[in-house]
Amino acid sequence: MEVSPWPQKRLLVLGSGSDVCSGRQVAAREGVFPVPTLLLLKMSDTDAIGSIGIVGAGLAGAGVARSLAATDADVTILEKSRGVGGRAATRRKHGCRYDHGANYVNPSEGDASRTAALLSELGSDGLVNIDEPVWTFDRTGTVSEGDRPDADKWNWTKGMTQFAKRALDEAAATIEHGVRAASIERREGAWTITDTEEEPHGPFETVVLTPPAPQTAALLAETTVDGEHTARLESATRAVQAVPYRTIRTFVLHYPFELDRPYYGLVNVDHQHPVGWVSREECKDGHVPDGECLLIAQMSPEWSTERYDEPMDIAAPDAAGHVAELIGDDRLTDPDWVDDQGWRYALPDAAVDAEPIEALEAIDLYAAGDWVVGEGRAHAAFWNGVELGERLCPSVQ
Ligand SMILES: Cc1cc2nc3c(=O)[nH]c(=O)nc-3n(C[C@H](O)[C@H](O)[C@H](O)COP(=O)(O)OP(=O)(O)OC[C@H]3O[C@@H](n4cnc5c(N)ncnc54)[C@H](O)[C@@H]3O)c2cc1C
Repeated sequence: MEVSPWPQKRLLVLGSGSDVCSGRQVAAREGVFPVPTLLLLKMSDTDAIGSIGIVGAGLAGAGVARSLAATDADVTILEKSRGVGGRAATRRKHGCRYDHGANYVNPSEGDASRTAALLSELGSDGLVNIDEPVWTFDRTGTVSEGDRPDADKWNWTKGMTQFAKRALDEAAATIEHGVRAASIERREGAWTITDTEEEPHGPFETVVLTPPAPQTAALLAETTVDGEHTARLESATRAVQAVPYRTIRTFVLHYPFELDRPYYGLVNVDHQHPVGWVSREECKDGHVPDGECLLIAQMSPEWSTERYDEPMDIAAPDAAGHVAELIGDDRLTDPDWVDDQGWRYALPDAAVDAEPIEALEAIDLYAAGDWVVGEGRAHAAFWNGVELGERLCPSVQ
């Protein structure tokens, strides 16, 4: 379908004003206006900040959208699934609620206070800190007390999806669910995103890509731009493809009895055990009815890669067997119901090379996510999105 070309950018040099906001700082950066005369730039009212298309309603997408909430930006999020939150996901089944992706928000030291402030800003109703500690185990299955018994482990009685939900509630964004972006095209300064049903979305002046790196690389490989930008796109695609990922297959193991242990979770510290992580979802308020136990078992990347597609009736008993041995309770070999989730692109192991990604900004194409910052953490993805949103619109800072 033919898209109408984006209106010409109109930049007015004004003396003052608090509503100055422009992703078109590009003009300043590229030296179109000499800095002394560029006291302030304001777009005309019809083109106040422009239209922004974000691919992905995970935490990075939510961060971008929330930080643009105070602007005139017309923000649309295209999300392939029915919900929001991406890998910070929650499911409900048989009266239980469980987080089958990210378990909790555990901000690193530098982020602890701003993340704690953010989470209470998003609403303290239902926001809980898991009291029980995380302990460790090694390849032999020997369990030891952890060294961070007091570390924050933020969660919500309604589950981890609350993080993105609450942030998006504060964002003036339109979320289009069930839309999987397949290709992107830029003509005469206007972006159109076409989904897998061949429906076009846009035009957008700016596009932000937030899927995990391999999925973003696939989108970049299907991106076309008029003008001399092919080399720029190819170099960014290669950089994004190069981000290494860990695969995790998560099993949800339910039991009709209580499990009495002094810890919430166990983490494998030498990365040589078939189980990477196991935790007791009943330690989270509002997740599991009294008298029941629901374990989240995240299998190691090696186990998960090898057995990613193995049928549940073969894979789950094997996982449950490893968990039972680790926790030291034979009853755990026999859950009364199970569920699973494969995360092919669970966690990035490194950050993308920044330079080729930044080079895309000249064509109003941006990326955000845990793989941009190189930390597979919910809060890191969110803050990366926030920082990008603020860069798109300095007046929100
Ligand atoms: C098993 C597991 C356990 C984890 N445990 C923790 C933990 O305890 N604590 C913690 O802080 N972090 C944890 N993490 C990491 C954390 O979940 C991620 O770092 C964070 O959620 C990444 O957010 P994001 O927005 O960058 O990406 P995502 O959450 O992946 O969001 C990307 C979004 O884009 C959508 N999308 C993808 N492709 C398309 C497309 N073509 N079109 C439209 N939409 C698309 C996806 O559906 C998704 O909603 C864990 C992750 C996993 C998998």
